[in-house]
Amino acid sequence: MKLNKFSTLLTIALSSSLVTTSQAAINFVFDYSDSSNGALWTSDRKAALERSASVLEGLFSNYTASIEIEVKSENNAGSSTLASAGSNDFVPSYTPGFSNSDVVMNEILTGSDANGAGFDGVVNVNWGHSWDTSVISSGVSPTAFDLESTMTHELLHAVGFLSTISQTGTDVFGNTTAGDWNPFDQHVGNSSGLLINQTNFDINQSGFTSSLVGGAGMAGLSFQGANAMAANGGNAVFLYSPTSFEEGSSGSHLDDEHGPYNFIMEASTDTGGGIRGVSAVELAILRDIGYTQIVPEPSTGLLVSFSASFLLLRRRR
Ligand SMILES: [Zn+2]
Repeated sequence: MKLNKFSTLLTIALSSSLVTTSQAAINFVFDYSDSSNGALWTSDRKAALERSASVLEGLFSNYTASIEIEVKSENNAGSSTLASAGSNDFVPSYTPGFSNSDVVMNEILTGSDANGAGFDGVVNVNWGHSWDTSVISSGVSPTAFDLESTMTHELLHAVGFLSTISQTGTDVFGNTTAGDWNPFDQHVGNSSGLLINQTNFDINQSGFTSSLVGGAGMAGLSFQGANAMAANGGNAVFLYSPTSFEEGSSGSHLDDEHGPYNFIMEASTDTGGGIRGVSAVELAILRDIGYTQIVPEPSTGLLVSFSASFLLLRRRR
């Protein structure tokens, strides 16, 4: 199941509630008018989201696009999901290959907005947990989650950092032969070098389903794009593959069970100052999935150790 498959009925006018960001060549435009938000998206929370958008606008500054994101809220302290994000589907029809990029990725790569005035993607935050909106990660309370870090993580999913391989090893249409995969999936494999067939797009279902729940490190899935492996010392980059499949999380994150990597795209985060920057390995993954013009500027000095804390929560897509 892919998250956030919207109907075509989203025609909410993008008007007074729009908040635009700076003058980057790509621009994230956030709409806070959803009724679930109420007063939850306070100005400091909006500012943290805008700062995370600025991180991506810098990375994608060689592209031109205006990405309209619907901003939503929930308030569920009992849920271990902190936040989620996704892109709307681009082409609902089945097309074999690795080009099933969603609206956001397609717009960044082509400059063309496939769904016009409709939202390109969505971000949803669970305010049932404690959040900190500090400008610098070292200022984040040890008992609260770093909102800017998590929002950057979520926006990276929205631009295509995610796998769509299902728990049963099918594509989103249920296919195992001639699948319709997204660009990330082209480079997902296991420790035997098993990939989705690069020419007929068939998946070795049993090989993938065992690796999808293989556990940490070599036993699970890994990302094997050429740029990512080069950035990772010639090694495949382990993907999150817990022994109990987690819909919306397995395969779409770096493997924090094997780590600690201290990568922003790990599946879970702790309270306290989070990672704000995008590593060279993660930039290389973005390059492998098609963003060949991404700015090659690994973050430095942004890695702050997690503080001791009580919670370890998942960030779904
Ligand atoms: Zn995530």
